[in-house]
Amino acid sequence: MAVWTTSDKLNFIERLLGTGKLAHNGRDIAVRCPICDPSDRSKKKLAITVEADFVHCWVCGFKARSLVTLIKKFGTQSLMSEYRDKFLPADANVRCTFISLEKDRSGEIKLPDDFKLLAVASDADPDVKAVKRYCNNRGLTRDDLWFFKIGVSNEPRWRRRVIVPSFDASGALNYFVARAIDPARHHKYDNPDVDRVPIIFNEINIDWTKRVVLCEGAFDSFKCGENAIPMLGSDLNEQSALFNAIVAHSTPVALALDADMWSTKTPRLASKLMEYDVNVVIVDTRKFIDPGSASKQEFNQALENAKESTWSSSFFNKLERASKTSMKL
Ligand SMILES: [Zn+2]
Repeated sequence: MAVWTTSDKLNFIERLLGTGKLAHNGRDIAVRCPICDPSDRSKKKLAITVEADFVHCWVCGFKARSLVTLIKKFGTQSLMSEYRDKFLPADANVRCTFISLEKDRSGEIKLPDDFKLLAVASDADPDVKAVKRYCNNRGLTRDDLWFFKIGVSNEPRWRRRVIVPSFDASGALNYFVARAIDPARHHKYDNPDVDRVPIIFNEINIDWTKRVVLCEGAFDSFKCGENAIPMLGSDLNEQSALFNAIVAHSTPVALALDADMWSTKTPRLASKLMEYDVNVVIVDTRKFIDPGSASKQEFNQALENAKESTWSSSFFNKLERASKTSMKL
């Protein structure tokens, strides 16, 4: 790492975040917080320790252990390169790359021609009736059917499946999933044949300024409250639009993967998100197998119980043990 002086660092911070107020100790600077963006432009409540780049906003609570998140969101590629080459603390476990998202593919997707909203589809059709019964058994209310625009089709590929459409932030259809109602059906889920890396399922419902719940499937998301996003699987790729949106918005995350991921993918994804300074809590889904099998109340209770302090140390111990074990092999 290059050698730098306090005034180099102060100059960098002010180029990124505007003029600051230096504390009497000369070791902290306070600047205007671009995250909570106070209307009073003279308010300087984002404190940064000049030596170590610990960041904390006294108003919105934003916290970070480097300037990387702020540069990603409010800086430029050249500020990022400058930071990485000159200032990034040697032990900072954060990534400094700008990731460009793939182009939005909405428009290529369309629902089956005979798609009907389940809430208004006629029970005279036995397949429709069976789909309704399935949704009812999975705990979906009539309001849920309307809210999620759940539907049915009689095309052979989509028949006897619950079709859940996804809309992007501007309301355009960008994807759908189709869950089979018959246990013997090959492929429990069938989806349109497009790349889903650029898809954020039902982003139209998401408020990025509030904590989001990440779960595996659409049927899980129905139970996880209003700000839930199904990952459509148990992995979340760092190149995906979803991962990048979380990092770019500094959105806190509650992880609610299925119980069988409790000691594997859940802690791995938690630490991956934390590398990017994302605030993570883990929802203990072990007593109901997966969120989709819980009631909304049960899930909400588990969500309220999810506290960072109760899991982080034990998970990191576990991860450390796991890495030691794999080194021995
Ligand atoms: Zn703030």
